[in-house]
Order: sequence, then structure tokens, then C-alpha cells
Amino acid sequence: MTIITRFAPSPTGYIHIGNARTALSNWLFSKSQGGKFVFRLDDTDVERSKTEYADAIGRDLAWLGIVPDAMYRQSDRFDVYQARAEYLKEKGVLYPCYETADELEKKRKLRLARKLPPVYTRDALKLSSDEISALHAQGKKPHWRFLLPNYKTDPFKPERTEVHWGDLVRGYQTVDLSSLSDPVLIREDGTWLYTMPSVVDDIDMGITHVIRGEDHVTNTGAQIALFRALDAEPPVFGHHNLLTTISGEGLSKRTGALSIGSLAAAGYEPEAVASLAILTGTSDSVEAQKDMASLAKLFDLSHVSKSAAKFDPAELDLLNRTLVHHLEFEYVKARLEAMDIAGALAEAFWLTVRGNLDKVVEAKVWWDIVTKAIASDEVLPDEDLEFVRAAFDMLPDAQYDVSTWKSWTDALKKQSGRSGKGLFMPLRIALTGRSNGPELANLLPLIGKARTLARRP
Ligand code: GLU
Repeated sequence: MTIITRFAPSPTGYIHIGNARTALSNWLFSKSQGGKFVFRLDDTDVERSKTEYADAIGRDLAWLGIVPDAMYRQSDRFDVYQARAEYLKEKGVLYPCYETADELEKKRKLRLARKLPPVYTRDALKLSSDEISALHAQGKKPHWRFLLPNYKTDPFKPERTEVHWGDLVRGYQTVDLSSLSDPVLIREDGTWLYTMPSVVDDIDMGITHVIRGEDHVTNTGAQIALFRALDAEPPVFGHHNLLTTISGEGLSKRTGALSIGSLAAAGYEPEAVASLAILTGTSDSVEAQKDMASLAKLFDLSHVSKSAAKFDPAELDLLNRTLVHHLEFEYVKARLEAMDIAGALAEAFWLTVRGNLDKVVEAKVWWDIVTKAIASDEVLPDEDLEFVRAAFDMLPDAQYDVSTWKSWTDALKKQSGRSGKGLFMPLRIALTGRSNGPELANLLPLIGKARTLARRP
């Protein structure tokens, strides 16, 4: 059996790191087993779905390293859903309802007051065809509910009806269908709610495994019943815990907080974001993985913890820094070129500065320090000024290489009696305008003779 997973966002906002957790889980799960990955836009809500968001989600997946094997839009498939709805109507398990939201709310409150579970009591099923015709004559349009199979013969006497599944994350799960209201599948205006198109697509697209957030656990109970009503076997389900902000708030596509696009724009490496999205809230330690293959080796849904996982921005900084310190020149070459970091010095420059960077984009600051005139806020005290001037006068005549720094400072030690910080710090400040940074032995040949001499204070 070929494993087929899917990531099915609604394009109603920018995807965030929590959505990335879902997307990557599906991607890693299928790819580690030679399977396929479907990218599906759940864009049944035509009002709120936007092309701009759909495009951005596609870009974000690509940025994360996810390459879908197939892509679908639910808005292309309304006819398919309609045909399946007709099938359910013929079977008598999709029925019209006419209550307004206010009426439903009143009924709900009444049941709560009577200490009864606030589920829909199927009153619309009692309507005779004459009553329905009268409602239509008044211009009323129905919404359509799926009759959950939670009764023996009388739908007004629901009984405990357990639906079970072996969840890839949460283990054996049970939902009692009598604790749920019959879900609305189609609104009054004929538009589709999420529940049914998702099931129809999962059937038609041959989805074998559905990995999604645990906010869908209850949906799964109703959806399993819907798969069966549509004569299909449900896929395997896995519900991972949700990511929250550090203060415990849920992430939302609508707020744009921690969106993948904003993390990309802030200069984080996709591998750092992916590592954190997958490893946070698991029993594995959160360490930056250099590529998808090594992340795939660590990925194990049974390691995902049962409680919510907090996203800590400081952790992302740490992962990013660790990755950047080891990035090969070839990997960053194009990005460096885009910052005008190119030419004969570029590779040696990268290897010199990468260990001091939190993000690749910060290389630009050092490139300017190396190649342009430096502007510094650091002021050398008089005694250091004297020392540095004398030191610059002792620089060798030959072009500089990686041995120049050592021979120069060895000679300076002897001559000035200075050592350690007292020797190096004034030189660092004179050469770079900063009190910290990459190894001066490596920087000196990059700055080169002419620019160095021009920095004599
Ligand atoms: N469109 C749904 C969502 O964004 C998909 C849920 C699912 O994976 O079934 O929550």
C-alpha cells in the first residue's frame, strides 16, 4: 500500500509554525515510507479564502522544503460534493433543517438548564412534507445535517454509540456519537462546511493517513461515521498536540503571528523552523537538524507529548545560530551574492564570519567592515592610541596571509610588553571598529594591506 498523506489548510490567512508542524508531520510521515503527499486547499469558504493566502502557503511549503506530489482546490470540486450529498439524501442520512441560529441557541440553553447535553434534538426530522413545503413557500432555505448513526431504530432515542480508532499520537481513542449534534454539512446559502468536502476528498484522493491538530479529535468521530455512510473505510488518524505562544495563547492564521512568511523574512533558516516545528513538545531534544533527511530520522509521532507545546522564540534563535555556524559556503553563496558578497574573498570571508552570526543576513555587516571604511563608536584611550599607532608601523610589508596576525602580535608582545586583552582589544577596535567579532588572524588577510593601513588611527 502506498501511503498518501495530505496537508489541507484553508487559505484564510498565512500559515504559522503550528500549521508547519502539521504540514511537516504529514510530509515526513509519507516521505520516510516512500509515500506521496497531497497539498489541498480547503477553500470552500469563498468569502474568506484568498488567492494571496493560497499563493503564500505554496511559497511557505516550498521554503520549508516540502514538494507536493499533487495539488487540489476544493473550490474546483463543488459538483463532486453535491453528487455525494444527493447520495446521502437518498439514503436518508442528510436532512433539511430550518431553525435560525437564535432558535438553536434558545434550544441549547433550555437543554443546559435542564442539565441535558446541549445537542441538537433533530426536531427538523419531525417536519412533514407539507410543513417543509410551507417553509419553502415562505422563502426559507434549509441547512443540511448529517444524521449520525447513534440510534437503533428511532433517531429520537440516541444511545451511546462508540467510534474507535487507533490514533498514531494519542493511542486508542473513543468518541461517543450520542454526545454530538448531527453536524451541519451544507449551509442555508448552499455553501459547504469543512466536514464533508474533507471526507469526500480524503476518499477520492486515496488518503491513507490523516495527521492533524488535536482540535480535530471530535470531528474525527463524526467524520469516521461519514466515511462509512459514503461506503468508505476511514484512513488512519493521528492528532498531534497544538503549539501555543510562550504565554499559552493559541496560534491563529488570522492574526498572522509567527507566520512562516514572517519567520522567513526575519532571516531564519527553514531547517531551524522545521526542526523546532517538529521537535517542540516531543520527548526528543530540540536540536537543529541540517536537512529533511536527518529530521525524518528523528520524526516519530509516538514521541509527541499529550499536552500543548509552547513555542519559544529564544529556542528558534538558538537553533538558527547553531545551524548558521556550520553552513557551507555553497549553501549560502546565492544569498551572499544577493547581498553583494561575492568575488575572490567571498568564501574565505564566509568561513571566517559564520561562527559569529545568528542569521546569514548579518554577514552583510561584516562584509562592510571588511571591505569598506569603518565607522566606529569605540574610542581608544590615549595610551592605547599610542600603542596602536606604533603597532601599525610594525605591520609587515608583504601582503597579509593567515600567519601575519601571529607574527605581528608576537613581535608586538615583545616590543610593548602587552599581552592578552591589553594587546588584542585596541588592535581589534582599530581594525574593525568593534570590541568583538571573528578571529582577527582570519580577518586581517581579508581586510588586506591597503585597507588595514588606512585604518591607522
Ligand atoms: N482545513 C482544515 C483546517 O485547516 C483541515 C483539517 C484537516 O486536516 O482535516 O483545519
